[in-house]
Amino acid sequence: MLLLNPGPVTLTDRVRQSLLQTDLCHRESEFFDLQEEARTRLVKLYDLDPSQWQAVLMTGSGTAAVESMIAALVPQDGKLLIVENGVYGERITQIASQYRIAHETVKHDWMDAPDLARIAACLDGERGFTHVAVIHHETTTGRLNDLAALGALCQQRGIRLLVDGVSSFAAEAIDFVNGGIDAVAATANKCVHGVPGASFVMVRRAALANAASRTFYLDLGRLAKLQDQRNTPFTPSVHAYYALVEALRELEDEGGWHARHARYAALAEQARAGLAALGIESAVPPEQSSVVLRAYRLPKGITYPQLHDALKARGFVIYAGQGGLSAELFRISTMGNIHPADIDRLLQGFAELAR
Ligand SMILES: *Cc1c(COP(=O)(O)O)cnc(C)c1O
Repeated sequence: MLLLNPGPVTLTDRVRQSLLQTDLCHRESEFFDLQEEARTRLVKLYDLDPSQWQAVLMTGSGTAAVESMIAALVPQDGKLLIVENGVYGERITQIASQYRIAHETVKHDWMDAPDLARIAACLDGERGFTHVAVIHHETTTGRLNDLAALGALCQQRGIRLLVDGVSSFAAEAIDFVNGGIDAVAATANKCVHGVPGASFVMVRRAALANAASRTFYLDLGRLAKLQDQRNTPFTPSVHAYYALVEALRELEDEGGWHARHARYAALAEQARAGLAALGIESAVPPEQSSVVLRAYRLPKGITYPQLHDALKARGFVIYAGQGGLSAELFRISTMGNIHPADIDRLLQGFAELAR
């Protein structure tokens, strides 16, 4: 079965085999070597300066990393503006509410790009915002939000940016240095090609200085401090760390995030062109979409469950639209161990259904 959902991904044999390594106690030096290799490789992936940035690992899915980032990096007296144009933006609002973090939300229709003029007006309205949170790749629709433009807007106003990069990290450009960014939350089991169970926050060391401690298990400041000391507060998902390290080695061998971007871009274009030839339209213009996942309009005369089941019978798992979009859209992600021949077979499957 090939997974064309946005994570967990179809693994390479190399990463799958890495799960079978020796049992490891998380209080032994071998585990801390593994933890250190993952952290070092993550910092290196985007050529970050380790004196300014650190990777903080945690056990949990991508949402754990996002929650940890939001709960820590908006200081007690801070205020967050959340840019919402999909399910994951909405999730950050829910997290901020749950922790009683002072926040406001700029809501958009889920098919729309963030309205920079509206966001600028909010920030200029003397409402005390210190931070902005945004989803880089809003997986709801495949839209790649313009991080550079939003970062510039924040930078000009001395406001810090917190990014959910769960479905873009390792495959899309992220300007960590000039973008006003304090942190990017991500996960092992999407564009990095590891397994679920390990996630991480790439955080500016300076931002940790006035971090809040609102949560116990996901306390980013505490995790950061202990990991810098080759330590860990709790039992990590050791096997997921094995896979994360192997996936990061493989990513380096394949040419890093630029190469992964190029590979995904080619697969996404192959799928888009093939589906367009069958009359299946992109929901978001390709130039506004990520290379990681694309949303398409469901063809007439077929429901999502029918499409899903027919493709599953042919060995492919596609993904439904979320929330209100479930009756209109379906999604195809090309992250993971997916190759052009797989997309050819997928398109053949669509062609047979269209007959
Ligand atoms: C997948 C994803 C998440 C996290 O989802 P989990 O199910 O917790 O892994 C968060 N944000 C975005 C944009 C995502 O695509």
